[in-house]
Amino acid sequence: MRLEVLGCHGSETLTTRTVGFLIDDELMLEAGTAASVLTLERQRKINSVIISHAHLDHIKDLPFLVDNRIGESATSITVFAIDVVLEDLRRHLFNDSIWPDFTRIYNGNTPLLRFETLHAGACTRIGDIEVTPHGVSHVIPSVGLLLQKQGRALLYTGDTGTTDTIWQAASNLPELSAVLIEASFPETMEHIAKVSGHMTPSMLLQDLCKLNRPEVPVYIFHMKPNYEKDIVDELRRELKDRLHVLQEGDIIQL
Ligand SMILES: [Zn+2]
Ligand SMILES: [Zn+2]
Repeated sequence: MRLEVLGCHGSETLTTRTVGFLIDDELMLEAGTAASVLTLERQRKINSVIISHAHLDHIKDLPFLVDNRIGESATSITVFAIDVVLEDLRRHLFNDSIWPDFTRIYNGNTPLLRFETLHAGACTRIGDIEVTPHGVSHVIPSVGLLLQKQGRALLYTGDTGTTDTIWQAASNLPELSAVLIEASFPETMEHIAKVSGHMTPSMLLQDLCKLNRPEVPVYIFHMKPNYEKDIVDELRRELKDRLHVLQEGDIIQL
């Protein structure tokens, strides 16, 4: 599994972009960053997008990713998410007001956009990747994901505060190769982290103990740009070389 980091921060600045990971050139994990950094040729290869939850920093580029496919040959983009997220996308984004309802606009016989429901705890195959979502603890319904392919597994938390189910599920996966954990705020902002459903370094470290797999590398993402240095310093003291701080342009080969 090849994971290319298009965006991995909790907000957008000149040098940071919101969350979007391109997997094996065909599958987007989140769509906070996609169309704004990929050539049209690379966008054409994308056939599926997984969305963890409906917040803007995870969906911002989706409207343009779909729009750029108008008039292309019979291909479509399928968005995979839990029902409540798909409903938000239908009602608030692709609603013929903010942006066209691309599920009713066709390239030949194929709609430009399709929606497919993911169910918490149930495995869905997308291409050659098995995807299992688990509910996490955010301010709106949100899932973390276990992605499995060819004997390798990746845990992606999405946006979450302290949570349980996904750690339990991952503990049972001997092939777990990496965890991508959100780390949004430094320790001094614990109150904001808790009311907004995000992690501080100490919350992250406590959750990581639930996994009980000290050999698995930890990749952090969703750092709020103005606090990134503090977050990294606080985590580095505990995790040392186990910690990897994702940056735009990174490629992880699992
Ligand atoms: Zn969020
Ligand atoms: Zn977010």
